[in-house]
Amino acid sequence: MIGAGIVGSAIAWRLTREGFPVLLLDRAEPARAGASFGNAGHIACEQLEPLPSLRLLLTFWRELSIFDGPVHLPLHRAAALAPWLARFVGASMHQRRNTPPLAALVRPAADTLERALREVGRADLLVRRGHYAVWLGPTAPARAARVARAAQRLQVRTEPAPAELTRALQARSPGTASGLWYPDSGHVLDPQSVAAAFVAAAVQAGAQFQQCEVREILPEGARVTVRTDTQALTVRAAVVCAGVQSAPFLRRFGLNAPLTAERGYHLELAGALPLTGAPVLYAGENIIVTPMRGRLRATTYLEFERHGAPPDARKLQRLRRALERLGYTSETRHEGWVGSRPTLPDYLPGIGRAPGAAPLYYAVGHQHLGLTLAAPTAEVVAALVANRAPPLDVRPLDLRRFGTRHAASLW
Ligand SMILES: Cc1cc2nc3c(=O)[nH]c(=O)nc-3n(C[C@H](O)[C@H](O)[C@H](O)COP(=O)(O)OP(=O)(O)OC[C@H]3O[C@@H](n4cnc5c(N)ncnc54)[C@H](O)[C@@H]3O)c2cc1C
Repeated sequence: MIGAGIVGSAIAWRLTREGFPVLLLDRAEPARAGASFGNAGHIACEQLEPLPSLRLLLTFWRELSIFDGPVHLPLHRAAALAPWLARFVGASMHQRRNTPPLAALVRPAADTLERALREVGRADLLVRRGHYAVWLGPTAPARAARVARAAQRLQVRTEPAPAELTRALQARSPGTASGLWYPDSGHVLDPQSVAAAFVAAAVQAGAQFQQCEVREILPEGARVTVRTDTQALTVRAAVVCAGVQSAPFLRRFGLNAPLTAERGYHLELAGALPLTGAPVLYAGENIIVTPMRGRLRATTYLEFERHGAPPDARKLQRLRRALERLGYTSETRHEGWVGSRPTLPDYLPGIGRAPGAAPLYYAVGHQHLGLTLAAPTAEVVAALVANRAPPLDVRPLDLRRFGTRHAASLW
């Protein structure tokens, strides 16, 4: 298995539990180097619809950073991003078609993660108190009502936020405040610990974890050869779950994975008091504040910058100021973190088996939902590897939907 982010770690545990001998490879400790380290910890059971939609096409300009929004499309990346953006526009016409395959993975996600964490003895990492979406300012009640109606259409449960929460919001930022409670979502107390728990349980049950750089994966008849910086291994099957860096590994197997790095940032507030014991999404500000073990973590931004480019200090500064305005302070100063969401242009993950004889499986492109979807994805991949019918229809998730022409890598 290539990649010990949350997706690879959950799959490693699941395959080991089913009796497969597993070797998990990553250049770093589990969930240390990729997006899985720094996410918001939100188990987003309400996010059933893929992002590209006709409505977003008409209104996305408002989300751009030049209009003080969270989306940054750097001009110098325009040419590199053009093919991805063209596919995004195409996918916007098909949100209705693309919702059921995503929803099938998302709806059971909190229950599936809870079951998996209980099995590895770390149920304590998951908190199931839902989350809140809140709006501030005179239009807050109307916006909350509109979002509640949209949720109802998707059969996502919401309730008005309790009066104590609204009062607490108003105490921090005077004015009108409205909120919704999503009872069926959840959050984790430390995203990296979730991945580490899966890997520890897998290793205890006989799997191996090796820290190395994977250079190449090649078909070898009905087997697969994995070349790392230290060795070449020929194995009975390989699973690629290397996040935003997965595409080059899949090319040799005829698959095109037009992944882009959709970067997000976080700041942590050590010892700061949460407003409530569940994540709070400040919808107007596009900031989610999650109570984690010993600190709050605030995440935001969708920055289409190159994976590995240095963080933009101005964005962190802007996030720091926004948090202060929202009433969050901490005595210690956190330097901030940036990470790359691995995102395909239709915002569906890619999960399946490569065409041809070589047993190459993949689980990539989990965009904003990798923590949410890791446990359900692991169940699907385990079924594919075991040659059983998976728990849901994986055909819409097959990467062959992007054709087999090899696009230049976008990260
Ligand atoms: C700011 C932010 C907030 C988010 N909030 C949430 C949230 O609240 N809820 C949610 O569900 N999701 C959230 N996400 C999305 C989620 O974090 C990602 O979808 C998820 O982490 C992707 O997991 P992954 O295992 O596919 O990739 P990664 O975590 O990126 O892991 C890939 C791994 O592959 C390894 N790797 C890659 N190439 C090689 C190589 N050649 N050799 C060896 N190792 C290699 C890397 O070292 C890395 O460990 C958020 C993301 C961000 C950035």
